[in-house]
Amino acid sequence: MTTTYKNLIGGQWVAARSGKTFQNINPANHDDIVGTFQSSDASDVADAVAAASEAWKTWRLTPAPKRAEVLYRTGEILLERKEQYARDMTREMGKVLAETRGDVQEAVDTAYYMAGEGRRLYGQTTPSELPNKFAMSLRMPVGVVGMIAPWNFPMAIPSWKLFPALVCGNACVIKPAEDTPLSTYNLVQTLMDAGLPPGVVNIVTGFGPEAGAPLVEHPGVRAISFTGSSEVGRIVGQTAAGLFKPCSLEMGGKNAMIVLEDANLDLALEGALWGAFGTTGQRCTATSRIILHKKIAAEFAEKLVARAEALKVGDGLDEQTQVGPQINQQQIETSERYVGIATKEGAKLLTGGKRLREGAHGKGWFFAPTIFSEVTPNMRIAQEEVFGPVVSLLECEGLEDALSIANGIQYGLSTSLYSKDVNRAFQAIRDLEAGITYINAPTIGAEVHLPFGGVKQTGNGHREGGTGALDFYTTWKSVYVDYSDK
Ligand code: NAP
Repeated sequence: MTTTYKNLIGGQWVAARSGKTFQNINPANHDDIVGTFQSSDASDVADAVAAASEAWKTWRLTPAPKRAEVLYRTGEILLERKEQYARDMTREMGKVLAETRGDVQEAVDTAYYMAGEGRRLYGQTTPSELPNKFAMSLRMPVGVVGMIAPWNFPMAIPSWKLFPALVCGNACVIKPAEDTPLSTYNLVQTLMDAGLPPGVVNIVTGFGPEAGAPLVEHPGVRAISFTGSSEVGRIVGQTAAGLFKPCSLEMGGKNAMIVLEDANLDLALEGALWGAFGTTGQRCTATSRIILHKKIAAEFAEKLVARAEALKVGDGLDEQTQVGPQINQQQIETSERYVGIATKEGAKLLTGGKRLREGAHGKGWFFAPTIFSEVTPNMRIAQEEVFGPVVSLLECEGLEDALSIANGIQYGLSTSLYSKDVNRAFQAIRDLEAGITYINAPTIGAEVHLPFGGVKQTGNGHREGGTGALDFYTTWKSVYVDYSDK
C-alpha cells in the first residue's frame, strides 16, 4: 500500500477534479513507490487561486512581524523533523543523505533569514519638493503568486520562493516538480503546523503542461516565480510577458571552474570532484567545464579520474554512498546521449560514460561518473547543459584565454577560479560573466543571505535569496502626505 497525497486547497486536502493520479518512484530502487499524487488540471488550479485570493485579503493585513513569527516557528519545526524529511527526500529524488540534510537546512536558514526581514521591509522617507509635504515609499505585497519548482532542490527551492513571498504578505499556489512532490508537502505541512492560516499556501501537483501552464495563465495570479530548464522557462516567460505579468526565471547553467598553474591542486581536485559529481551533477550550479592551464592539465586529469573512479555510487540512503542515482529515465538517457555526442565530436572519454546495471544498481538510474578530455570550447558537450555526472576538461594558455572560454556560452550562473594570485582572483571576479563567482572553491553552494541567480540565458534579472528576493515579491508604492490645510 502506498500513501495517497491530495492537493492542499484552502486548508483542505482534496483530490484532483479529474480523479487522475500518478505514482512517484524511488530513483535508486524502482520497486519502491514513494507515493500516489494528484494529477491536476486547470480546474484544480482555478480552485487553488480562488482559495489563495480569499486568504490574501486577511494575510496582507497581518503585520509583517506577525507573518514572520510563522516563519520562525516553521524553521524550528523543520529542525525537529530534519532527519525524517531528509530521508523522504533521498527516497524521492536520490541525492545522498548528507546533501538532503543540507537541503532541509537551507530551508531552515531561509525561514530564519526571511523571518528577520519581517522587521525590515524598509521603504524610504525622502525630502519633498514642496513645503508641508511628506514623501515616502512603501513595499506592498503583489497578491497571489504562482510558483513552479524543479526537482533537484525539492525543499530548498520552494522555501526560497514561499518564505520571502509570505513575509511580504502574498498568498501562494505552488506546483512542485512531478518527481519530487513529497518534499513540498513536508514543507507546506510544516508551515500549516506552524500556524499559517488556511489558503495562504496551496499545493497543486501534476504535470507541467496540465498543471503548470494554467497557473501561469490564470488572471488571478499576479506574478510567477519559475525555476527549471531554459527550454520551459522560455515558454513560461513568453506566456507571462503576453499577460504583462511579472515573472522571475531561474534556469540552466554550464558552469566553469578555472584552474591556473599556481593553484593548490589538491584543493582544486577536491572542489572539482564535488562540483562535478555532487547531486550526481544534477545542480544548476554543477561544475560541468573544468578549464585547466596546459602546464597542469595532464596531472590534474589523471588525479581526477582516479578520484572519480573511487567514488561509491549507490542508494543515497546508505551513509557510505557518495553519488546517488539520476532522477528519472529521461535524465539518464540525456547523459547517455551526450556521451555519444561528445565522442562523435572528438572528445576523449577518460572514465565512465555508461549506466551501472550490475546488482542493486540494476534497480535504479545509476550512471558512472564521467570525464571527457580534449574538449574544445565550441563542442556541444562544452556548450549545452547535460544535468548529469558528466564533466568536460578543456585547456587554456593563461587567465585571459580561460576567461574567454568561460564566458563563451549562453549561460551565466556560477563560475570559479583556483589561483594563489590575488590579482588574478580579482580580475576573474570582475570579468567572469555570471551571477556567482567563487575563488578557491567549486561552483556549487549558496548562502541564503546573498542573492542567487544568473545572467545571460540563465535568468531574467531577478534574484532569489537575500534582500533581492523581496524586490520580486513586493511592489513599490510612493506616498505623498500634504499636511498643510492652507
Ligand atoms: P523543467 O523540466 O524545466 O521543469 C521545471 C518545472 O516546470 C517543473 O515543475 C515542470 O513540471 C514545470 N513545467 C514543465 N512544463 C511546463 C509548462 N509548459 N508550463 C509550466 N510549467 C511547466 O526543469 P527540471 O527538469 O525540473 O529541473 C532541471 C532544470 O532546472 C535544469 O535546467 C537546472 O539547471 C534548472 N535549475 C535552475 C536553478 C536556478 O536557480 N538557476 C536551480 C535548480 C534547477 P514537471 O515536473 O511536470 O515536468
